[in-house]
Amino acid sequence: MRSFTHTALPMRVVFGPGSLARLPEEVAALGLTRVLVLCSPEQAATGQLVADALGDRAAGVLAEARMHVPVEVAHRAQALAAELGADGCVAVGGGSAVGLGKAIALEHGLPVLAVPTTYAGSEMTPVWGLTADGVKKTGRDPRVLPVSVVYDPELTLPLPVAMSVTSGMNAIAHAVEGLYAPDGTPIVSLMAAEGVRALVSALPRIAAEPADLEARGDAQYGAWLCGAVLGATTMSLHHKLCHALGGTLDLPHAPTHTVVLPHALAFNAPAVPDAVGALGLGADPARALWDLAGELGAPRSLAELGMAEADVDVVADQVLASPYANPRPVTRDGVTALLHRAWAGEPPT
Ligand code: NAD
Repeated sequence: MRSFTHTALPMRVVFGPGSLARLPEEVAALGLTRVLVLCSPEQAATGQLVADALGDRAAGVLAEARMHVPVEVAHRAQALAAELGADGCVAVGGGSAVGLGKAIALEHGLPVLAVPTTYAGSEMTPVWGLTADGVKKTGRDPRVLPVSVVYDPELTLPLPVAMSVTSGMNAIAHAVEGLYAPDGTPIVSLMAAEGVRALVSALPRIAAEPADLEARGDAQYGAWLCGAVLGATTMSLHHKLCHALGGTLDLPHAPTHTVVLPHALAFNAPAVPDAVGALGLGADPARALWDLAGELGAPRSLAELGMAEADVDVVADQVLASPYANPRPVTRDGVTALLHRAWAGEPPT
C-alpha cells in the first residue's frame, strides 16, 4: 500500500515565451513598490532590461551575483537592500542570482521573485547557500523560497549550448535523486519522470539549434519540474558528492553534476529498480545519460574539470564524514571506486 506525506510549497509560477512582460504585474500583485534587481556581472544588460520593464517599482540593480554566494557579496547586497529601502528582490539569472536573493531574504525577510535563465532549479527550493573562507554552508528556510517565478524561455536563448547541456544535466540529477528520495511522493515521482522526459528530448534539439524556442521551452519546462522535485525532497549520494567536489575543490557546479550523475546512478541503480524504470531511459539509465553527455559534447571526466586524482581521497573523506540518506549503503571502497571512474572519464558500472 502507498504511504506518504506530501507538502505543497506555496509559490506561484508564470510560464511561457514573452512572460517577462508579466513581471510588473507579479511585483504589483505582491504590493511591492521598490524591488532590488539582482543578476551576475555577465547578465548586467538583462538585469537592466528587467529594471526598465519594472519602471518606478525598481529601486536599483546589483550585478554582482557569483557562484556559491560568497558571504562578502551577500553582505553588500543585504546592505544595499537596506540603504535603498527595498521591499523585495527580483533575481534574474541562474542559481547564483537566485542564491543572492535568498541571502537577502534570510537576513531581511524580503520576498524574492525569480526570473530563471538556466536550468539549475534553485528558484523552486527553500534551500539557501553561503560560502565563507572556502566553506559552503546550506540550509532550508521557508523565507527564502521565491514567492513568484516567471519562466520566459526567450531569456534562455543566449545560454551557450555547453552551459545549456550541463545545466540540463544538473536538473536531471534532481529528478534522479527525487525518484529514490526517502521523502518522495507520487507527485514527486510524476514530476521527476516528466522532467527527465522533457529535458532528454530538448537538449539534443538545443545542441542542434540553440535558437529553437520550442526546445528551449521544453527544457525550461523540464527544469521547472526537476527544480520542484529538488525543493520537495531530500537528496542523496549524488548531490553529496557534487557538494563536496564544488565546495572543497571549487569545481564548476553544472559540469560536475554532469560528470558525476551517471556514476552515482549506476552505484544506486541495483537498490532502486522502480526509479530505474520510472526514468524511461531503458534498462541502463546511467549508461544512457553518459552516452547523452558524450553525444552532446559535455565533459565526462573530473580530470577535464581540473581535479587531481589525489583529491579522490579528500572528497571521499568528506562524503563519508556525515551520514545522509542513500538507498545503498555508502562504503569507502564504493565511493573511491566511483570517484576514480568519474575522474578518469570511464563509463559507469
Ligand atoms: P550561474 O547562476 O552561476 O550562471 C552561470 C553563468 O551563466 C553566469 O555567468 C550567468 O551570468 C550566465 N548565464 C545564466 N543564464 C544565462 C543566459 N540565459 N544566457 C547567457 N548567460 C547566462 O549557474 P547555475 O548553474 O545556474 O547556478 C549554480 C549555483 O546555483 C551554484 O552556486 C549552486 O550551488 C546553486 N544552486 C542552488 C540550488 C538551491 O536549491 N539552493 C539549486 C541549484 C543550484
